[in-house]
Amino acid sequence: MSQTDKHPLVNAYYRMLERVYEKLLGNEPENPRKLDEVIDEARQHAIELGELESSQAVKIGDYLRRDVEDFALLTLEKADQAKERIQQDLSELERDILGKLLEIADQTTLELNAIRAQAEMRQQHEWLAGDVSGPRDLECKHCGKLHHHNRPGPIGQCGHCGNRHYRRGKRVH
Ligand SMILES: [Zn+2]
Repeated sequence: MSQTDKHPLVNAYYRMLERVYEKLLGNEPENPRKLDEVIDEARQHAIELGELESSQAVKIGDYLRRDVEDFALLTLEKADQAKERIQQDLSELERDILGKLLEIADQTTLELNAIRAQAEMRQQHEWLAGDVSGPRDLECKHCGKLHHHNRPGPIGQCGHCGNRHYRRGKRVH
């Protein structure tokens, strides 16, 4: 899939994911970087290149951070299922996004205690229609219907009840 086939928000998300991935996993493994720092750098980078307005860069960074945090927690809880999920019928791009997210999540294991504390403070991650997310199952907070959000693009509203709020689907990734 070429860059132009993707929704602009997904393009921005994917570019930021690639930069964060490069910085975290690309080199100098003996000198681990902090996820927050690396995401901030990737935001600045996108703004300096004129790819994103600063408010967009904040948003995209938050989407990415939420995915990494959520996958980090999930990987810790259900490492086997998380990896099996990659073997499922995802497109090349989706597999790439999920693979990178899981590798970053794995790399950030050292930060997990902090991430877990933050995630618990926020109770549970919530996704809104219009947000961008990596491939995952989302559960409608209103009617409980499970949505397989695999196609790259902003999250749609619930096809069943029209609600716009989701939590992580109970079925494991
Ligand atoms: Zn619903």
